[in-house]
Amino acid sequence: MRRVIIATNNIHKVKEIKTALNFEGWEFCTLNQAGISSDPDETSDTFLGNSRIKAYAAWDAAYAKYGYPCAVLADDSGLEVDALNGVPGVYSSRYAGMHGEGADKANNLLLLNNLESVPFEQRTGRFVCTLVFLDEDKHETDAYGSVEGKIGFEERGEGGFGYDPLFYPDKYNNEISFAEVSQDEKNLISHRGNALRLLKSLLTN
Ligand code: IMP
Repeated sequence: MRRVIIATNNIHKVKEIKTALNFEGWEFCTLNQAGISSDPDETSDTFLGNSRIKAYAAWDAAYAKYGYPCAVLADDSGLEVDALNGVPGVYSSRYAGMHGEGADKANNLLLLNNLESVPFEQRTGRFVCTLVFLDEDKHETDAYGSVEGKIGFEERGEGGFGYDPLFYPDKYNNEISFAEVSQDEKNLISHRGNALRLLKSLLTN
């Protein structure tokens, strides 16, 4: 079995990653499951930079704990809104200055307020995701994925997480939000799904 540590404790991401990278003989575990605490400051102003910070910190922490190298996968993702010059971007999870419970709600409210006077045609944006895979030799493979859509005027749907209730993908003609579809449907077109499909092909070839 090849143990791959996913450098996150976000269960939504873990589920998506496990389903997409279904390589025979791979066993995934989260940082918690690996008994590792690695929570470096995300100090980069790019998604790739922050993914790399998380990946290298987790790789080093795993090596320090086990005494042998493990493969690591890190991701960084967020929402870029054109009318706000790319904001919230790398600050997506802490846009309203909150952490943990209640943060998603506060972020969505702030986004709606900041887009109050922006008409629907100009509410374009995208979710983006970067993945950094480090193998046991610290050889790095990077993958990027995105999904285009519009920011709605109200939250809709109970599924997903984060900005999903406000994000209306172009592929659904901007009529349905990401929070109104199943996880499997979302994976087919999502930023993380696209990045994972690319990573899978890069690791296969
Ligand atoms: P990260 O955990 O540092 O990658 O922060 C990602 C943040 O971007 C999350 O907390 C969400 O606010 C937002 N985000 C990323 N991916 C998604 C998604 O698939 N749906 C909704 N929000 C997302």
